[in-house]
Amino acid sequence: MSTASIAEQRTLLLSASYEPIKIISWKRAFRLLFLGKAEVVEEYDQNVRTVSVVIKMPAVVRLVRAFRRVKRPVKFSRVNIYARDRYRCQYCGTKAPIRELTYDHVLPRSRGGDTSWTNIVTACFRCNSKKGNRTPAEAGMALRCQPVRPTWVPAVSIAVSTRSVPDAWGDYLYWTGTLT
Ligand SMILES: [Zn+2]
Repeated sequence: MSTASIAEQRTLLLSASYEPIKIISWKRAFRLLFLGKAEVVEEYDQNVRTVSVVIKMPAVVRLVRAFRRVKRPVKFSRVNIYARDRYRCQYCGTKAPIRELTYDHVLPRSRGGDTSWTNIVTACFRCNSKKGNRTPAEAGMALRCQPVRPTWVPAVSIAVSTRSVPDAWGDYLYWTGTLT
């Protein structure tokens, strides 16, 4: 068995708010799926045969219900902004990897807008430059939702070898900055 396929037998578990919690075996992921406690976010190309069905091996699963942990204030950072906005441009709704995202001051800084949870949203480069130095109303670009300070807990550290990280995990781990 190649290194890649061994790596692919692991599944990244995310909280309901898309933060990485930990790496679990795909068998445990299956149990969570069958119990209705998690849903598949990304899958591998590999099929898995169970007694009754053949399904794609889960690469990333997300808990359906809130994961309870000691609450800490969420660090205000670019990556946490992206996570709050689920990696979607808040103007056109496009979901994109982090390298294709930027952030936008809803009320431009030059107009007194501050750099805060409630004035910064995720944007794609196209919408960001189209909006320019205007308010959403002036630009005729509606926000998909009002930016708020998130209530979820910040990312936990997951130490994994970069070489063994499956591609399907990239979007979910990258922003934690904990890859070693
Ligand atoms: Zn956009």
